Amino acid sequence: MPMSQWNQQARKVLKGVKISNEFFNTQAFEESDFPIKIPLEYAELIDQTNPNDPLLKQVMPQPKTGQIGFIPAPLNDEDNSPVAGLIHKYRNRVLLITSQVCVIHCQYCFRQNFNYTEHDALSNWSEIEQYIRQDSNINEVILSGGDPLSLSDEKLEKLIQNIENIENVTALRIHTRSLVAIPSRITDKLVKILAKTALKVVLVTHINHANEMSEAFIKNIANFENVTLLNQSVLLKGVNDNLNSLKTLSLKLFEAGILPYYLHMLDQVSGAENYFVKEQVALILHQQLQAELSGYLVPRLVRDEAASSKSWLL
Ligand code: SF4
Repeated sequence: MPMSQWNQQARKVLKGVKISNEFFNTQAFEESDFPIKIPLEYAELIDQTNPNDPLLKQVMPQPKTGQIGFIPAPLNDEDNSPVAGLIHKYRNRVLLITSQVCVIHCQYCFRQNFNYTEHDALSNWSEIEQYIRQDSNINEVILSGGDPLSLSDEKLEKLIQNIENIENVTALRIHTRSLVAIPSRITDKLVKILAKTALKVVLVTHINHANEMSEAFIKNIANFENVTLLNQSVLLKGVNDNLNSLKTLSLKLFEAGILPYYLHMLDQVSGAENYFVKEQVALILHQQLQAELSGYLVPRLVRDEAASSKSWLL
C-alpha cells in the first residue's frame, strides 16, 4: 500500500541535538530526557533569525532548574486508571490512551514520563468496553495519547465504530496536536469518518500560538463537517504569555472556525520549569483578554489537578 502523504510528512522530522542545531544554525539545542522531535513542516514555520521564536521555544529542551513543585508525573494519571489504557477522573467521561506516539515533542508536555507501554487502549479494548458499558453515567469518550491522530485512519475508524456500539456513549472528543504540526493529517478519509459517525464529535486542537496556524492548516481544517472545533492552549512563558499573542491567537482561531476553549496553566512536570507563568500574571492577562475580546473568544483559564478534576480559575 503506498504511504499516505501525512505519513510521509510524519517521517520528515528533525531528531536529536546535532541535526536540530544544524537546521536552525545554532548551538542552543542540548540533550534532554525528552527526545527532540520536530516535524519539518513545523520547523519551517520558525523564524531562524529569532532565537526567541515562540514555536522554537516549544520544541527546544529547556534547562531543568529543579524548582520545587516540578515532578515527573504531576497529574498522577496512572492513579486514576481503573483499567489499563483508560483514565476515569470525571463522572460522565473517560479518556483513552490510544497511542504512545506524537508527531511532535513539546518540551512542556506533562505526559513525557507516562508509562505508555502498560496503557494501550487498543490492545485492551475488550476490558475497556466492558468498563464503559457497565457505568451508565459515562456518555463521552475522549481520545488522547500521545496523539490519537498518529493512528492510521483505518485504526481510528475501527475504534470509533467500537465506541459507537456502546449504547450509553453519545459523544466523542479527540484531543490532538497533529493537525497543526502536520496539516496533511486532515485526510479525506478522516473527514469522512468523523462526518458519518452517529456520535457527536468534538475535535480539540492544541495550538499555543497564532504562528503555528499555517495556510495549509487553515485550508484543511475547513474540510471537517459535523464536527465542533475547539482549541486549548497552555500558557507558556516566552511563547504566549502576553496580551498580543493570546488575542491574535483567539482571533485567528475564530477566523479558521475554531473556538478558544481552555487556556491551561502549565502542568508542573520536571524539565518544564522555564515555561512556568505565575497564577497572578495569568489572572491579569485573562482580565486583559476579557476587556479586548468578545466573550466567546476568551478561553477559560484552568488548571488540571492531580487528585481531583480541573479547577476553573476564571
Ligand atoms: S503532542 Fe501533546 S502529548 Fe505529544 S508531546 Fe506534545 S503535548 Fe505531549
